[in-house]
Amino acid sequence: MPSLPVRCPRWVRRPWTAAVALLALAVSLLVAAPASGAGSAAGCRVDYTVNEWTGGYTAQIRVTNLGAALSAWRLTWTYGGDQHVTSAWNATVTQTGRAVTAVGTDWNAALPSGAGADFGLQGTWGTADPKPTDFSLNGVSCSDDGTVPPTTPPTTPGTPPPTQPPAGCGSAALCSDFEDQAGTTPSGNWRFTAPDCQGTGTATVDTAVAHSGTKSLRVDGRAGYCNHAFVAATTDLSSVGPVLYVRLWVRHTTALPSAHVAFVSMPDSSQGGRALRVGGQNGALQWNRESDDATLPAQSPAGVALSRPLPTGSWQCLRFAVDTSAPKLDTWLNDEQVPGLHADGVPTQDVDQQWLSRTTPPRPTALRLGWESYGTGDDTLWFDDVAVGSAPIGC
Ligand code: CA
Repeated sequence: MPSLPVRCPRWVRRPWTAAVALLALAVSLLVAAPASGAGSAAGCRVDYTVNEWTGGYTAQIRVTNLGAALSAWRLTWTYGGDQHVTSAWNATVTQTGRAVTAVGTDWNAALPSGAGADFGLQGTWGTADPKPTDFSLNGVSCSDDGTVPPTTPPTTPGTPPPTQPPAGCGSAALCSDFEDQAGTTPSGNWRFTAPDCQGTGTATVDTAVAHSGTKSLRVDGRAGYCNHAFVAATTDLSSVGPVLYVRLWVRHTTALPSAHVAFVSMPDSSQGGRALRVGGQNGALQWNRESDDATLPAQSPAGVALSRPLPTGSWQCLRFAVDTSAPKLDTWLNDEQVPGLHADGVPTQDVDQQWLSRTTPPRPTALRLGWESYGTGDDTLWFDDVAVGSAPIGC
């Protein structure tokens, strides 16, 4: 068993460039077999984009249904090397020998004709990791004559998939663009709060910087333990689920520090009201659970490398999906799924092994936006266009 985590462990900080170098080798494969002519059975196209490094890889996969509508999709392929899938997101992926099966999850199982589904996986390899070429969708080959069409140019890493959940708010339980705020003090559905202790940090309604309209929420966060400054939405989120989806736009000024900080804090009834937090450590985004101080990803160099920094000086779309019925969660930064901010219920070294030491699913009951640090770390942040609901919400 790993030893219990100490509060805000400090690891030797690895420059982000090193992580980039680890992931530098990117290859892309397009297997396309559009339906053509009578009798053609081809019914799918697969975009399989790999980031690989010595011993490991992640793959972002998009399957497009070129055939009749499917109520539940199942994509299969065979690995030619010794790849082994260790985790996946937006699909349930199982592997027997070299045969791999991916099945859509609750929210992307249905695949209308012409529509695509995106999912990803992480795995290991030892001696070889050639790209798979024999994809089949619900038993129908994606390449009906058995040949693989020419490889297309690689897609740009980070390019958002064409199909995303609708932006705006839909039927979200909480939806705020802060345009209804009358003064500089948060009011209406929003209240200033300092959950544990208050210092010199402040939160105001800002009319100088906004993602939408003319208003946003500004937080002047200050370093130092117990310098909490948050604005909490009064909306009760305890019945939002079973997957709680959050979309927010955030802009900040100072790169995430090496010390632990948080800018989203959700009281979690499964932790007796203690917080489920999104913030940063070692310069990259992380989840943190207040009750046991577990982090996602693990704060090892390999774990941190699977997360992402939060860029400064521009608006960033941060989305997450917190499963309240299983210990699973997912995180997207500007529509890119962040592999290190992913818990799938199957412990993965450097990612969610420590996180899954607690098997009780989280049950967030409210949303707080602001700043808390535990040591170093001043930052000025803005939040805008915030939504929380039971269905995916796009950027
Ligand atoms: Ca606004």
